[in-house]
Amino acid sequence: VLQFLIGVIPAAELFVAAQVIDELATLLGTGVWSEKLFFLILIGLCLLGLQRIVFSFNDYLTEYLRSFLHLAVNDRIHRMVLRLDLPTLERASVHTLITYLKDQSWRPMQMVYSVFQTFGNVVASVSYVILAATFSPIFTVLFLAAVLPSLIVSVWAVYFGSKVAWGKASLMKQVWYFESLFRYRRSLIELMIHNVGAYFADRYKTLFGDVIHREMEIEKKRLGASAFTNLGAFAVYAIVYIQIIRSVLVGASTIGQFTLYVGAFVNLERFLVSQVWQLAMLLEHTKYLDSFRELEEIIPTIKDTAEARELESIELIECKDVTYTYPHAETPALSKVSFTLHEGERVALVGENGAGKSTLVKLLLRLYEPTRGSIFINGRDYREYQLVSLRKQMGVTFQDFLELSLSVKENIGVGELSSLDDQAAIEQAAMRSGIHERVMALPKKYQTILGHEFNEEGIELSGGEWQKIALARSLIKDASLLILDEPTAALDARSEFRFFQELFRRAKKQTLLVISHRFSSVRIADRILVFKDGRLIEEGSHDTLMKQLGLYEELFSLQTKEIH
Ligand code: ADP
Repeated sequence: VLQFLIGVIPAAELFVAAQVIDELATLLGTGVWSEKLFFLILIGLCLLGLQRIVFSFNDYLTEYLRSFLHLAVNDRIHRMVLRLDLPTLERASVHTLITYLKDQSWRPMQMVYSVFQTFGNVVASVSYVILAATFSPIFTVLFLAAVLPSLIVSVWAVYFGSKVAWGKASLMKQVWYFESLFRYRRSLIELMIHNVGAYFADRYKTLFGDVIHREMEIEKKRLGASAFTNLGAFAVYAIVYIQIIRSVLVGASTIGQFTLYVGAFVNLERFLVSQVWQLAMLLEHTKYLDSFRELEEIIPTIKDTAEARELESIELIECKDVTYTYPHAETPALSKVSFTLHEGERVALVGENGAGKSTLVKLLLRLYEPTRGSIFINGRDYREYQLVSLRKQMGVTFQDFLELSLSVKENIGVGELSSLDDQAAIEQAAMRSGIHERVMALPKKYQTILGHEFNEEGIELSGGEWQKIALARSLIKDASLLILDEPTAALDARSEFRFFQELFRRAKKQTLLVISHRFSSVRIADRILVFKDGRLIEEGSHDTLMKQLGLYEELFSLQTKEIH
């Protein structure tokens, strides 16, 4: 309704203004105010007032819709991304698609704006066409035809522009990457110590400069083409203008009509050109929607089947000939790995870097699925269980855990959302990971904000302290299986000793799977699985493995050897 009014009021104003001029022409020099003049002025002022009110309301509503649409679009992207599985998310094309959608998430807002504007423009154009046609229908048609090339050029520009936008997304991904190096404390320290700040600042500048350069190239083409086509419309306008003057000179039109016709053609041209651009923009925005749909249509391979059941606890895990090859990798990261994990067992995974230990953990979590072979839980293929319940039964800490710039309480509580407000559970988990005392010494204890991102008074923890926070996060979960990938890599000797002591002293029921390079810590495990080049090559207790004189014994002895 507002856009209709916005479209129609200016034409009505022009019409009234022309009447006023004609009325003034008849009253010129008489000093008399006619009733008609009063009436016309009153209508003119009312229209002006109405226009002001309509504009204000329109601004308010457009802003309201745009803000909420921005929110809705980003929220939808987040949820669509969450639906995807890790192998899909690790595909570069998917990453580019998400980058593009995030980078251009303003487009749907702009679309709303364009749709409204289009409606307003159409109404305005029709009003001016009606006014212009009262002068000459033929010239009006001619005039409309002159604007046509402009439309074609715009459509071409959109087609060309969208191709570049896609290329831009992959470049922008790199731009963002370099930009992020200057945003996070960790990377900033690295830039400082290696004196490479300027080097990366230059790379960012060159790359971003390249993106801008590409954009400007399109803009230049658009500008050139539209200047050329606008020239056509301008030439027709000049002819019409002279025709109107001629009709006044021969007495076919009054001065008021002169104002009306000139105004009608001028505005018609303005609105049509603006409309052509709005249409072009709309087309461009629909390309964004296509990408939106593309993301929506990606079907994750790792997902629940229709008859997926809930996993209530883990009593037995059996890996049978599990092989996993990463996409595009030539050799498998894991080959024919078979072992069994019973409830309450405390098992350690050892092996040199790249042996496949983390990959195995990710397979257990069903972040990836075996390329060949299967994993069974409680006798069933683990794909028969609901993903959420499977992961709920597994408490995990990876080496590259997330340091959340939130309170200590939340940092630990997110491990089990239902315990987010359970202070006792949070403290117990913190005690077990060995961070409780440190937290109690912080200014606001569990409410202390960690990190400086949002809070000047935020506290920075040491690497080892952060690791204990991350460990507490997985310990708070009432999970059947606790998986710890290098849980003590950043811990000092005393903390590590205490942590393992506490860990192995725990209730027997929880199964434990620990990846560690500290052989002194893993020797108390019930069973040790030794990996090499993706294969499980040795299995047994510390004593058994030592007697075998294999890789385990070699690595263990290396750690106890002195360096000369
Ligand atoms: P470990 O935990 O024993 O150090 P990983 O399981 O992390 O070893 O890695 C095993 C092999 O798989 C390595 O050669 C590594 O390069 C490869 N790899 C690990 N993660 C990925 C990934 N996301 N994509 C491709 N290859 C990977």
